[in-house]
Amino acid sequence: MLAFIGLGSNLENPKIQIENALKTLNKDDEIDVRSISSMYESKPLLDMPGPNYINAVCKIDTTLRAYDLLDVCQSIEDNQKRIREVKWGSRTIDLDILLYGQQVISSDRLSIPHPEMINRAFVMVPLHEIDKEINVPLLGPVKKLIGRINRLDVKKI
Ligand code: ATP
Ligand code: CA
Ligand code: CA
Repeated sequence: MLAFIGLGSNLENPKIQIENALKTLNKDDEIDVRSISSMYESKPLLDMPGPNYINAVCKIDTTLRAYDLLDVCQSIEDNQKRIREVKWGSRTIDLDILLYGQQVISSDRLSIPHPEMINRAFVMVPLHEIDKEINVPLLGPVKKLIGRINRLDVKKI
């Protein structure tokens, strides 16, 4: 299955955090990282306090089921010492499953497509960079959705 994962960090050397998470993903026997976007810098959501964020998106090919992929993502967050304090607070690493094939999943633990993805420049700009033909189930082609995004919200680094 082809899937897309959004990675973000604003603590403890964000670029290295993202690179380490990508390496760990690729080491998993059931995950093959196919492409990785550039890194993008943005301000915290909703004017939350804290350093700017670095984000990237990767495309993977995986034999894992969506919930098992979430387990892998959450174990990477734990290994990289993510501490959960306030919602949307600063973090060493965040991995969100954006898309899992064309599946739609809606449960307490997992919502795919990621519900906020189409509103976020730090997701849509890197996603569009690595795959201009992808479709977001229920919402439409990335090529069209990117038109609603303010590209000035992110800076390619
Ligand atoms: P946001 O989801 O708005 O980007 P966040 O990433 O800060 O916020 P987290 O604290 O990382 O939120 O995650 C909260 C919960 O979201 C997780 O425990 C997980 O079970 C759930 N979740 C639901 N859908 C997804 C998804 N597509 N990818 C990752 N986690 C998800
Ligand atoms: Ca997130
Ligand atoms: Ca998350």
